[in-house]
This record gives sequence, structure tokens and C-alpha cells, in this order.
Amino acid sequence: MDVAFSHNSTLAKSEPAWGSVAKGKLPHVAFARKGDPEKKSTWGFPHHWVQGGSNTDDNGCYTDGTLYLHRGGLRAAWSAANGGRSGKKAEPAVLAHLRTHMSAIKMSKAELLAIDPNIEATTSELLAGGFLTEADLQPDIEAWVSRVLAGPMGSVTDADIEEMLAEQTS
Ligand SMILES: [Zn+2]
Repeated sequence: MDVAFSHNSTLAKSEPAWGSVAKGKLPHVAFARKGDPEKKSTWGFPHHWVQGGSNTDDNGCYTDGTLYLHRGGLRAAWSAANGGRSGKKAEPAVLAHLRTHMSAIKMSKAELLAIDPNIEATTSELLAGGFLTEADLQPDIEAWVSRVLAGPMGSVTDADIEEMLAEQTS
């Protein structure tokens, strides 16, 4: 059970390479395909990681530490969920889960298109199918502001705000 972790779209200040994250130790909450919570083999599309995990449960999954969203993991999961490896698209619930994170961390349009040129078509399908609402796709402004504050500039300028507002209304 995921008692210790709550699902979030928070990025760590620094994250390990996705390749070095121990996916086998990730808790159920770190996956977009939920499967059977008791059966690790049915979970899929991991895109979170646990910082400072030390204890594990019977499944070998972390029970402590801090859960973060992983930018590289999100990219990899999105690519795989769009058929990157299998040629088969994952179920809409998986795509919607990942798409919501992309929106929350305000992944740039260029970045989205680099991962999946059909991102807009996929998004419309998810909206039409009721798997996402427009509200799900509203960028998380607080997260965006804190990222800018943590960035090299150390401050949010008027131009940053204008750029964000322009993107939101376009
Ligand atoms: Zn997630």
C-alpha cells in the first residue's frame, strides 16, 4: 500500500538519471498503469522516483523517502505509452495520467512535440473521451513560479509572466 507517499507533480532540484533509478523498488503510486495493487508485475509506465528510500515492504518497494516526479521518466513513459517500443498505444487512463503531469510541470510545447508529434491529437482524444478535462491541462502556476524562482535568474520578471499568460491563452 502507498500509505507513505502521496502522488504529486513535484520535480526535485536535482534528479538522478532515469536509467539509474531502481524501478523495481518504486511503490505502486509511481506507476501510470495501476494494474493490481498487490501484483507488481501488472504495474506499468513508472515516472516517479523516491529520494532517500531505505526501507522496503514485502514487494521490495520503498516504504519511506520522498516521492518526486521524474522529468526523464515522464518523457520515457510518454514515449512508451505512445507505442515507442511496442507500436501499441497504452490505454487512455495511462496517457491521461502522464499528460496531466506534463501540463502541471508546464513542459514546453517544443519538448512535448519532440517526444510525440501527435501530442495535440492525443490530447484532443483524451478530452473527447472524458479522460481529461480542460482544467487538467491548466499549467500549475505555483509550480511554474517556484521553478522560475529556483532557476538561475532567481526571480520572476514581468516578461516571464507575460510569456506564461500568452501561452495559456493561445
Ligand atoms: Zn504520476
